Amino acid sequence: MTSLLPAAFIGHGSPMNAIDHNRYTESWARFGASIEKPKAVLVVSAHWYVNITAITAMRMPRTIHDFYGFPPELFAVQYPAPGDPSIAERIVDVVQPTYMGLDEDSWGIDHGTWSVLVHMFPQADVPVLQLSINAELPFDYHFNLGAQLHALRSEGVLIVGSGNVVHNLRLVDWNSPGKGTDWAQRFDDDVRAIMTSDANELGQAGSHHDYSLAVPTPDHFLPLAYVAGLSAAANTPTRTLIDGYEMGSLSMTAYELPAA
Ligand code: ZN
Repeated sequence: MTSLLPAAFIGHGSPMNAIDHNRYTESWARFGASIEKPKAVLVVSAHWYVNITAITAMRMPRTIHDFYGFPPELFAVQYPAPGDPSIAERIVDVVQPTYMGLDEDSWGIDHGTWSVLVHMFPQADVPVLQLSINAELPFDYHFNLGAQLHALRSEGVLIVGSGNVVHNLRLVDWNSPGKGTDWAQRFDDDVRAIMTSDANELGQAGSHHDYSLAVPTPDHFLPLAYVAGLSAAANTPTRTLIDGYEMGSLSMTAYELPAA
């Protein structure tokens, strides 16, 4: 029995990864199978990017298909994991005095979460909670809130950030499967150097020469801030779970903060 569950940042990429099987989805599955079964999983998904800090607190969160232009089999995916309102209340307490609202009827499980969890916990038998990303607040708020979640790692809660370190949909090149542009690789490499040494430095990525290309909007990058905060709180660097690129302008890099 470990005292601290691991945590992870997952580069989720295309929603199609929910129904595809590739080296990324296999690494997510291996991670899920390798860890002590958590009491719940708390996911910070790039796709719940709103103007409030909230946590899902419903008993049976719905599966949200928050995309368009994908095949019917993707819209047919359901991830029927339960929620856990009492753990949601516990998390609201843990982060005080930071305000976190209880969402009882608005959100649910979006594809940033279920496209990963269908591989990580295919039985959908681990209760799922989602934490919104408050779009009105700066990097440091998210990093510090991540650090505040540290205590949950010893209470059986697996914390997962789901986004992409490099995520520029406008510059996607469909003719570059499995490839990353020079700027995408430079940014991803420099972030990796930070995450695998001292995650306290992650805020410096905002002044990186390639930041505006790699992170045109903060939604997919900020889930990493939570894992960086957890890493700093544990004084333990993360390690790379898997890395790679897709379509030139997406990095698929995933990080694991090891169990302890
Ligand atoms: Zn996404």
